Amino acid sequence: MADPAECTIKVMCRFRPLNSSEVTRGDKYIPKFQGEDTVIIGGKPYMFDRVFQSNTTQEQVYNACAQKIVKDVLEGYNGTIFAYGQTSSGKTHTMEVRMASKIVQDIFNYIYSMDENLEFHIKFVRLIYSNLLPVSKTNLSVHEDKNRVPYVKGCTERFVCSPEEVMDTIDEGKANRHVAVTNMNEHSSRSHSIFLINVKQENTQTEQKLSGKLYLVDLAGSEKVSKTGAEGAVLDEAKNINKSLSSLGNVISALAEGTAYIPYRDSKMTRILQDSLGGNCRTTIVICCSPSSFNEAETKTTLMFGQRSV
Ligand code: ADP
Ligand code: MG
Repeated sequence: MADPAECTIKVMCRFRPLNSSEVTRGDKYIPKFQGEDTVIIGGKPYMFDRVFQSNTTQEQVYNACAQKIVKDVLEGYNGTIFAYGQTSSGKTHTMEVRMASKIVQDIFNYIYSMDENLEFHIKFVRLIYSNLLPVSKTNLSVHEDKNRVPYVKGCTERFVCSPEEVMDTIDEGKANRHVAVTNMNEHSSRSHSIFLINVKQENTQTEQKLSGKLYLVDLAGSEKVSKTGAEGAVLDEAKNINKSLSSLGNVISALAEGTAYIPYRDSKMTRILQDSLGGNCRTTIVICCSPSSFNEAETKTTLMFGQRSV
C-alpha cells in the first residue's frame, strides 16, 4: 500500500431543499453559502472541498463526486463513495437513485468503447449491514482470504452483463432493506447499504490484467439515539450503528492525518472497506444535510463529522 498521507480523501457537503412538512411547520431555511466551499450555520463557517446548495442537480453532484473515481476504478484503482447524514437528509437520493445508475452506465460505455482484445469481468455485490438483524442475508461475517483481502460470507453475489441487470439487482436489494418507523416522523434507515462494483480487465493478447473496486455506501442515519426515542433491541441496534459510524469517522480522520495506525479492525464495516479506504484509494464522502431550523443541532453535528475528515 502507498503512504496513507498520499491518500485522496474528498469531503463534499450537500444541502437538500426544505421539504413540504418543514415548510408547513414554518421551519426556516438556515444555511448561508459562501463561495463554492463554505456553508455558514448560526454564524459559524464550515469548509469542505465543495459545498452543494439545495438547487444543485444530480448531474452536477455526480460530476463532482463520482466521475473521476469511476475513471480511476477503470484504470485499476479502488475507491469508495459514502453518503453520511441524519435520516431524510438526502443520502439515498444522492447515492442510489441516480449516482449508481450513472456509474453503471459509465462503466458499460467504457467497456463498449474499448478494444476487442480486452475481456471484462464485472462483479456486483450488494450488502445490507446491520448488527442485530436475524435475517441470514444481513447477518454477515467478515473473513479474510489467503491474501488477507477481506470478504463477506453469505452475501448475495452475481455476475452481470448489462446496465439494466445491475439496476434490477439494486432494486431487489432495496426490498430487503430493513426500515423501521421511529418517532422522528420519517422512516429511519437503521442499516448501512453497501454496493460494490468490481471491474476486472484482461488483455487477451498481452495477458495484462487490471482490477478496480468501487464501493458505494449509503450509511445508516447518523442521528443521536436519544432523539429517536428508541427502546430495547431497536436501541441496541441504534447504538451499534452509532458505534460503526464513529469507527468510520476514526478511520477517516486517521487516514486524513496520515497516522501510522489506522483502526480498520474496530468495526465490521471498516474491515469490509479496508482495501478501498486509504493507500492509493479514492475516497469521497458526501455529507448530507437538512436546511431546516428544526434540525439545526443535528446538522451542526453532521457538519462536524465532515470537518474532521477533511
Ligand atoms: P435519507 O436517505 O438520508 O434518509 P432520502 O434520500 O430518502 O434521505 O431523502 C428524503 C426525502 O427528501 C426524499 O423524499 C427525497 O426524494 C427528498 N430529497 C432528498 N434530497 C433531495 C434533493 N437534493 N432535492 C430534492 N429532493 C430531495
Ligand atoms: Mg436513505
